[in-house]
Parts: sequence; C-alpha cells; structure tokens
Amino acid sequence: MPAIKPTCVRDIKLRVNIADVISRVVTLRKAGGNRLKGLCPFHNEKTPSFNVDPDKGFYKCFGCGKAGDAITFVRETEQLTFTEAVEALGQRFGIVIEYEEGAGGPSREERSLRQEIFDLHEQAAEHFYQAFKANEPAGEYMRKYWVEKRRFTPELADEFKIGVADAAGSGLGHALMKRKYSEEALRRCGLFFIYDDAQLTLHALRPRFRGRLMIPIRDHQGRVVAFTARQTDLTPDDDPAKEAKYVNSPETPIFTKGNLLFNLDRARSHVGEGKPFVMVEGQLDALRCWSVGLKTAIAPQGTSITESQLILLRRYHTQVECFFDSDSAGQKASLRFLPMALKAGLEVRFLTLAGSEKIDPDLLFLERGLAAYDEVRRGALNAMAFASRAVLPDPATASPEQKARAAQGLFDIVSAAESEIARTGFVTEAATHLRLAPAALLKDFQAYTARQGRQAAARPANANAEPAAPVSAPQAAHTSERDLLLICLHFEYLGPRLSSALPHDWIDTTHVSGVLLNRFLGEFEHQTWPGKDHLEGLLETPDEQKLAASLLFDTPSFDDPVKVACEGLRQLRARALEPRLRQIELALANSPTDSNSDPISLLKERVDIQRQLRQPIHLPSAE
Ligand code: ZN
Repeated sequence: MPAIKPTCVRDIKLRVNIADVISRVVTLRKAGGNRLKGLCPFHNEKTPSFNVDPDKGFYKCFGCGKAGDAITFVRETEQLTFTEAVEALGQRFGIVIEYEEGAGGPSREERSLRQEIFDLHEQAAEHFYQAFKANEPAGEYMRKYWVEKRRFTPELADEFKIGVADAAGSGLGHALMKRKYSEEALRRCGLFFIYDDAQLTLHALRPRFRGRLMIPIRDHQGRVVAFTARQTDLTPDDDPAKEAKYVNSPETPIFTKGNLLFNLDRARSHVGEGKPFVMVEGQLDALRCWSVGLKTAIAPQGTSITESQLILLRRYHTQVECFFDSDSAGQKASLRFLPMALKAGLEVRFLTLAGSEKIDPDLLFLERGLAAYDEVRRGALNAMAFASRAVLPDPATASPEQKARAAQGLFDIVSAAESEIARTGFVTEAATHLRLAPAALLKDFQAYTARQGRQAAARPANANAEPAAPVSAPQAAHTSERDLLLICLHFEYLGPRLSSALPHDWIDTTHVSGVLLNRFLGEFEHQTWPGKDHLEGLLETPDEQKLAASLLFDTPSFDDPVKVACEGLRQLRARALEPRLRQIELALANSPTDSNSDPISLLKERVDIQRQLRQPIHLPSAE
C-alpha cells in the first residue's frame, strides 16, 4: 500500500468540509454558532449528542465518546483503511491524491499506470452511458431492451450508469485516443484487442465489447474497474464471444476477478444489525434487489465465489444471506459457498421459499417487490439445516449407510470452520437434522478430524503451502466468561453463589458468552434455573445454542471449581474497573485545563474503584 503524502492529507482536511462528509450519513441540524448536531451513528440514541464543528473539522459524541476528523469518520463508518479513506475523500471531492515515492509500494510508473487505467475506465463508463442516452439507433434499442426486456426503470440505468457498446464499437477508441492516454494504458486496460503490435493507431484498437449492454463494475471504493457486457440482438456475428451471454473484462492492473463483489461499494453502507448482506448470483439480480429497495445485495464476479471476496465482505458485516436460484446449479453453488463462508467466519443463512421448487430471485422480486424478501427470510435455513438437507434430503427413511455417507459429506463442510466451538456446535446441530445421536456424531467427527490431520501430516509440506488467512475472531478475550459458564453448567450448585458475587455490569454482553452468562446468572438469582438438561427455553439464537452445546460437551478438568470461579471474577472485575481508573487518572492529570471535570468527585470515584479492586474475592457461602 503506497503511503499518501502528508501534505496531501493536510490538504484534504483543509479542503473538505467535514459537515459535507458527515451529512451523507447523519442528518445534521444547527446547534449554536457554526456547530451542528445529529443522532450519533456509532451508538443508539434518541436525542442528539453527536456534535460537529466544521470550523475545527472535528466531530465528537458526548454519548459514546467517539471523536475525530473527516478521515476518521470515513474510516469508521465505511470500514476503510486510512489510505482508502483518504482516497475515497479525494475522489468524492475531486482532489488529486499524491503518494510518497519509493519504499515498498508500487513504483511511480506502476502507480500512475493504475491511476491512468482507473481514469480511463471512468471515461469509458461515461462514453457507454452517453451512448445509452443518445438518440441514436443503438441507444434507442438498448433503452427499450432495458425497460421492456429486463423490466428495469430508466432511473436505475442513470444510477448505475448502464451503457451500450454499439455494434461497431468504434467511438470508444476515438474518445480515449483524444484524451492522450499512454500506449501502455490503452494496451493493458482490457477494453481492446490489439492486433497490430508495431504501432498503436486507432485501427489497431479493436473493441472487446460490441453490441452489448454495458454494466460498470466498481470496486469497494466505488471506482469503475471493469465491465460486464450482456449479449443482445445487437451483438454482431463476428464477435469472437458471440454465443456468450455475458462477457467480462479480463484481469488488468486494476481488476482481479476473485477480489471483487458487485455492488459492495453501495451495499456496505446499508448493512447492519438485522440487515445482512444478501448474496445473489448475478449482477442483474443485485440490480433487481436494489431497484425494489433491498440495498444490501451483492454478487460475485463471474461464476465462482472466492475466499478473498468473503474476507473482504467480513470487514463490513459478518452476516450474509445466500439467495441463489433454486435450480440444481444454484444449489450446487450454495453448497460450494457454505464451507468458504464458515472458514471466513461468516454467519450464513440460505433464503428459500417454502413449498416452492423453482425460485428465480430476479423474477420473484420483480413480481412481488420487497415483500418477497420478508417471505423468503421466514423460510430461511441456517447453515446446518441447509447442509443437512442437501446431503440427506429424507433422514426419516435413510438407511444407516446413507446416513454415514451423509455424515462424511457434512464433516467436509463443517471442518472448514476455524473455531473449535463453532465446529462442535455445527456437528451437534447437524445430528438433530440427520436424526442421529449428537454424542455418536461428535465421536465420528473427532475420528474424521484425526484422520484428516494424519493425511495432512503425510502430505509433503510444500503441497498445500498457501496459508489460511487469519479470519477467525479471537476467543481468548472471553475465557473468563467461558470458565464461569462451565461452572454454571457443570457445578450447578455454585450458580446461586456466583450470581450473588458477580455484578451484572462486569460482564461483557457484546459477546455471546457474556449474554449467556448474564442470562444464566439471572436464572440462578431468581431461583428459576431449569437445570443444565433443560436449557432450550434459555437459548435464543443459533449462536447461543452452539455455544451451550459445546460447553455441555466440554467436561472441565477443574480440580477446584471455587478457585476457578474466584479467578474468573477477579479478571472480570479488573476488565470492568481498570479502564475507568485510567480514564480518571488522565482526567486528573489534565484537570487544570479541562473545565468539564470536577476533580473532587473524580478523586472520590478513584478511591472507590481502588477500594473495590483491593477487596478480596470470594464466593459467599451457601445459605
Ligand atoms: Zn455516540
């Protein structure tokens, strides 16, 4: 990643009005002086405590404490790296980004070649789009095709800059030659076949796309990097790919197929709690979703989904709903997608329509609009329900041999998941779907894993050298919660004592183990604990079920559960109280200049926290 010149970063901060950046996301109102106020995008609130000061170029939330400048804001709301955020701002506000020379990154020539090809693609997209709008036969034909055949609106074409390459394709080369791109850029942009090696003239540039509907492909920052071209009646007979319905740009210095998801640049700002990504098969499916108001749809580029696409996806949101055609090709694609999604640590669900054999997402949304989305979500299957159904459609009548084969198929899928907890949970859940005893299936799975491990060890070391990307979330941070959960489940008699020793606000409930611990302790506290064999009513989500299942199977080897409980309590206490202590100390150090803080109450709070941290931890004895 090339470094951006510090002068350029300063320039961006000076020239970009932070209010313009933030108002794309937050509705801002005047709040005295030049200041503006709105609802914080980083935490849930009903009254605005998110303040923006355009003069200083800063924002600050008095509710959750988030603060920063325009670049921080773009980084945090769009999950971009620093460089990407600066580039995004540069593009939005028309500021040219300058990079540092040398050291590691691509050379100046490579960088300017890439920049040139980016620019060339913007120009090409504009060229195709203008041809689509023009009162020429090709434009007229394609507008009609778009509205009558594809049944999209003219507005959607404007929004996505849909274009047309006419049958001769002659105009593009001319338009680009006029703009004086370098020969290298024209040769490597992928928009032309170049027949004459000797000299690059207009006649040597044979357009790759002719007589086709042009869909610009944008990267996750919204830059046009390639095109998908749909065959139409205009496609001439001498097109070397005449029979291909879709022709894509080849790979170029700015376009790697496996790294790109169509519409991710827009979808990523619409995902969030309860709004997962929706993976559809093709670009036109994704456009259909967008047109009915389902803004989180994305599509792979070409036929196959790759791991790097999913890792990119995971940067923005961990939940994805897979909605492929219900035909066998679509179902096979779903099954290929599943292990990769598990490996990337994505929580995946499969959308289906109950009682219907044939679904085509494009047609479904066209006919029924957004209402169809709610309906297919109701019939959604989670990962294991989908996988079990695929490997064994009818478990009720299956023979033991069929079940054994199905189990092997499932193990292949489940073993892709990185986390042990997740794998155990998946197998346990799959047992229910296959109507097998969970303990037996888990035992088989352990044997399977051991066998795989031996096979992997027997393979020469360089055979599979590609290291797996580190995508699994660290579990270690919640070992205290996990230990205490194990105590609740395996030493139930300690539960009531634990609940009276552990204040609720020490538990980190942003994580599933914290949520579960909080709930379990509540049951003990109210003397309504159902016993570890009757947890069904307490488990609300598939994640909670998975975690509980793995905890129940994990027989702890604690010699002294009371000691483990006390150690867990001590760690939760430290994690809950120490950050506040550091905050107070910082505030006290700055107190002469910081008029917001009251040193007396801070000192009192400090004494109180220090006292709490010193107190010996013990489980109160049973009453
Ligand atoms: Zn906030």
